[in-house]
Amino acid sequence: MTLATVLGQPRAVDALQAALRSGAVHHAYLFAGPEGVGKELAAVGLAQALTCPEQPDVGCGACASCQRVERGLHPDVTWVMPDDERVSRGLAGRSDFTGTPSRELRVEQVRQLQERIALRGLESRRKVALIVSAQTMNVQAQNAFLKTLEEPPSDTTIILVASAIDRLLPTIRSRCGKVHFGPLPVDMVAQRVAEARKLDAETAMLAAVMAGGSLGRAMALDVDALSRRKDTLTAFEALRGEDAVGLLRFAEAHGGSREEAESTLELLALWTRDVALVKSGLESGLANRDMVDLARQVAARTSDILLHRRHSLLDAARAAIARNGAPRLQLERMLIDLFTEASR
Ligand SMILES: [Zn+2]
Repeated sequence: MTLATVLGQPRAVDALQAALRSGAVHHAYLFAGPEGVGKELAAVGLAQALTCPEQPDVGCGACASCQRVERGLHPDVTWVMPDDERVSRGLAGRSDFTGTPSRELRVEQVRQLQERIALRGLESRRKVALIVSAQTMNVQAQNAFLKTLEEPPSDTTIILVASAIDRLLPTIRSRCGKVHFGPLPVDMVAQRVAEARKLDAETAMLAAVMAGGSLGRAMALDVDALSRRKDTLTAFEALRGEDAVGLLRFAEAHGGSREEAESTLELLALWTRDVALVKSGLESGLANRDMVDLARQVAARTSDILLHRRHSLLDAARAAIARNGAPRLQLERMLIDLFTEASR
């Protein structure tokens, strides 16, 4: 790969290539945008361009240097990420840490980075630091990092890759060159997902829409949950507040794992949006086009207030599971809140 092969982000890639051509590369960049849209690929591409001996300021993608950048093994390209990210990428094992691997970037990691970039580069003209999930830097880490931004080493480029830049101090944001990465085109995500996961076109398109233009999320969605979507939605709409056992069974059937519960909640959120579209007479925009009859029935019997409530409860359940809430329990709570309220 190279910067030029990053797909679906022409504005970001053009801006970086222009900076490379004119020798106006910043000391620090903030790559901002949703998860799974190519920010980290672009960061690797920029690191290659800055270190490649074959095609300086472009990056050939093929030489030993570029290959090592891509595999995370280049001595002048330092990667920093939270411990739990290292575990989920298979770069470390759980047993490498005492206690639970941290979800935050800690001040010790920032200090280690500072020591590292204070040293002369080993092979390349420039050193690069790539900070993954930069939004997870805690306050002490951010304050320590600010010092580096105030007095950056002259031969170093720091790239912060972040999905939620409002969690970074304004003083950090203002000292970085910002590069925005938007959601990817849904058609492109659908095509890539269909190829990579061997899905039929309809399921792949649904995955792309559910993932909101994030290839990373579309790749991670539970395909079984997607292929059972008709059964799931029909069962969901058959739930009634007075049938407590039915509610618990639904939660048990769809809350077996965090991934499964998240996929189910995304599916329900998209379905709720479909019902709202039908209510507004906008049926052509449905994601679940083959379920328009059920969407009409639900639209006819569901008030705007209740639909709004569905949205908030689905969001709350997703947030709770993201914070490590037990998936089945969160689904149960959401269903009980939703359906017992509805029957009142
Ligand atoms: Zn190269």
